[in-house]
Amino acid sequence: MRVLLLALCSVAVSCGPTPPLPVRVMAIVPVETGSYETREVSIQTLSNLATLKGSVAELVGANRLIVDPNDPLQRGGIENLNDEQRYEVIVKDKGTDVRGNFLERSGVYWPADFHTWNMVTTYWNFENAYLYFQDLLASQQPTKTPDELNKMKVMYWPELRINSETPITDNALYLSFVKAFAIAPFSKENKVPMAMNLGIVGHEVAHKVWGKRVYNDEGVPAPLRTWSGEAFNLLKSLDEGLADFHGFGVSCRALSGCRPDILAPSIADQDYAHQRDVSRPDACMDEGLRSALKSFSQDQWVRGRELYLYGNLWAVTLYQAGSKTGGLQKVKSLQVALLAAYDDDKAGTPGLNQIINRNVNNPMAFTPEVVAESIASHIPDIPLRTAFCGEAIARLQLQCARPDCADKMPSCPGTTRRATTPCAVLPPLP
Ligand SMILES: [Zn+2]
Repeated sequence: MRVLLLALCSVAVSCGPTPPLPVRVMAIVPVETGSYETREVSIQTLSNLATLKGSVAELVGANRLIVDPNDPLQRGGIENLNDEQRYEVIVKDKGTDVRGNFLERSGVYWPADFHTWNMVTTYWNFENAYLYFQDLLASQQPTKTPDELNKMKVMYWPELRINSETPITDNALYLSFVKAFAIAPFSKENKVPMAMNLGIVGHEVAHKVWGKRVYNDEGVPAPLRTWSGEAFNLLKSLDEGLADFHGFGVSCRALSGCRPDILAPSIADQDYAHQRDVSRPDACMDEGLRSALKSFSQDQWVRGRELYLYGNLWAVTLYQAGSKTGGLQKVKSLQVALLAAYDDDKAGTPGLNQIINRNVNNPMAFTPEVVAESIASHIPDIPLRTAFCGEAIARLQLQCARPDCADKMPSCPGTTRRATTPCAVLPPLP
């Protein structure tokens, strides 16, 4: 029966005409109750339904990627190769077209097997992440578009091994060093697969936006190669925490509404999902985290949870500043401001890209106060900016001499005061 069904579907889609856009398909999406269910959705950009390729994303199957310092082709360090060479030595199998099987009923395409459900849902998630960033940029200037999100390469179900014999499973990743996304095979997790989770795809797409705008799309960015200590740790945490903040923003596009705990539907460890919740009112720096931020090596930081916990403080600072000032509309204003702060070459309001580039050989100058100032200077709404400054001073334990912090963050208005709850002032560093 199943074989017959698949044969019929192939005729319906791959041999028939490409359906007109938008295409109406069934996918597994978050619905009003918050749970994931099958629903009809409309996809605007999927020009080839059978091979899951469109202007936003192109799925490719059967890739094999190996990162292995003992590989003779990689022994000289993948960071010393250019983008094409690095892709060539890591992507051992370049992959082939995927093939979705659909049945058409009254103009709606129904996936006919598990992988097709997963792939079409994945495409819908990538399209929504694209539309989220397009909307933020258009709010700044109507002609701006997220060009880095055209034809995103999505490796579907690859064999993926990174410095390990064990292949990666149960994950969705953005692999900046080959500028491609990977939807790893499912293995042990029995919750909503990562690629079906709209917020998680939003998080991964946010990494690509960050890489393009903050690191000039460098595959292995210079500061990540050469910085260590607080500057390196801060940079990695910003990438992760701000990706969670944007992932939350992308989640708002679903029928279920916004989901600040984007990991919760997909991982068993609910305590950890809660620690990453961008709305978490109790998120404060503590002495242990402060000491790790200042002292951990690159390796310790990227292997530990502190990386994400410190990133979460940045996400919560933004979320709470918006929420306390005027709810979700103000949170969106902060998403727009944050994206503007990634890359800005105006002298008075340098973006993170410009600050990092200017200080590639002087990482000590890249501090939490400098980052907060750059973000603050891109928030035009003064009460919102004041709230952001107050939350940042308290949650991130920023070090300033003046009560309004204008000595370190001149963009913070004179009425800025450290938010009084819930974060206590930590004792000075020993
Ligand atoms: Zn991430």
